[in-house]
Amino acid sequence: MILKTRLFTPGPTPLLPAAQFAMAAADIHHRTPEFRAIFSRVLAQLKDFVGTTNDVIVLSSSGTGAMEASVSNLTSPGDRVLVLSAGKFGERWAGLAKAFGCQVDLVSAPYGETFSLDAVKAALRLETRVVFMQATETSTGARHCLGRVAKLLKEDNSEALLVVDAITGLGTTHIDMDRLGIDVLIGGSQKAVMIPPGLSYLAISQRAWDRMESSYNPRYYFDLRKERKNSKNGESAYTPSVALIAALGAALDYIAHQAATPENPAGDLVAGRKKLVENAETIAAMTRAAVAALGMKLFSPTCPAAAATAVIAPDGVDSSVVVKELKSRFGAIIANGQGEMKGKIFRIAHLGYFDYLDTIALIGALEQVIAKSFPSPAFAFGNGLIAAQKVFAERSPTAAADACCCAKK
Ligand SMILES: *Cc1c(COP(=O)(O)O)cnc(C)c1O
Repeated sequence: MILKTRLFTPGPTPLLPAAQFAMAAADIHHRTPEFRAIFSRVLAQLKDFVGTTNDVIVLSSSGTGAMEASVSNLTSPGDRVLVLSAGKFGERWAGLAKAFGCQVDLVSAPYGETFSLDAVKAALRLETRVVFMQATETSTGARHCLGRVAKLLKEDNSEALLVVDAITGLGTTHIDMDRLGIDVLIGGSQKAVMIPPGLSYLAISQRAWDRMESSYNPRYYFDLRKERKNSKNGESAYTPSVALIAALGAALDYIAHQAATPENPAGDLVAGRKKLVENAETIAAMTRAAVAALGMKLFSPTCPAAAATAVIAPDGVDSSVVVKELKSRFGAIIANGQGEMKGKIFRIAHLGYFDYLDTIALIGALEQVIAKSFPSPAFAFGNGLIAAQKVFAERSPTAAADACCCAKK
């Protein structure tokens, strides 16, 4: 059979055609009225996308650049910070904070789980300057209780800023930055916004801007105050990734359009982003049901993210086999486990430009891989598909979870 290559990875994700066309057409200089119009509009759109009236900064870097910028701009050497970590991306926060001389307190949970709120409460000190966490831990497929951590900090009247890597949380979790009281919310281009890697963005609260006045870790290229000043004029401090910014505008238009009505044919970004979250939630629920029906277990069963589903390979099966077979036989690119999880789990992404047909097709291909590579006596074709079909048929279109999955329990 011919193969169509399709990404099912949690970044990069499949590209939106309208965004690709916008990129190809973006042959413009960045110190012109044409670019300023595009950039100013994208910055305004991003505010709606993350639910804030605060200023949003766009950087020409992958997501880690924005993570680093939040550390270098908000902390000083010797600052006490709290990192909530339950996977590879949580560990990245700890590494970054240490690299900038912070004293790191750590609340960790085993891979596949989320940390307990009591542990967070106990670790929070009067001197804690910043709390760093993920909204969703892409390496394990877990969703963290962002809403509860934010509430805890508020109730504690904590001076600590809450900095959230929502790089796979945005577009897969209902996150309203201002309503939750998040100080810095970070996103990346190659995830739910359906464009190539190379852009990151940060929404920043007034409290966090104020902190930057007194923090003194070194920063130059990622000086957020300098970017803020330039963005007021629709520009960036240095040459921005013009084509990606044009693509981002097109993608945000597409997301808004998901909520189009006859009265408002352009749609609405706040309503559209909710639909995008519900889309990911539905696909994730279909995938989880299929995996269970095929006799496999989730790696993060108690708090699964809608961004990606992490599946434990059956006993004695190397998850690399699943990854390789899906690619070589069906052109479907899924992700292996990262670090010590490699060979043990495989991850299927749901964030961004995935639909019903993609989902059903991948589950069908997964059944073929199981049938050929590691059939169990109980295996039968269609079991995964039946489970997914039922979830789809029975799901209410607005069933999606709150920002905090723990709230449901
Ligand atoms: C993808 C991702 C990042 C960013 O990684 P980059 O490779 O720098 O873009 C950060 N955090 C999470 C949770 C991610 O999924």
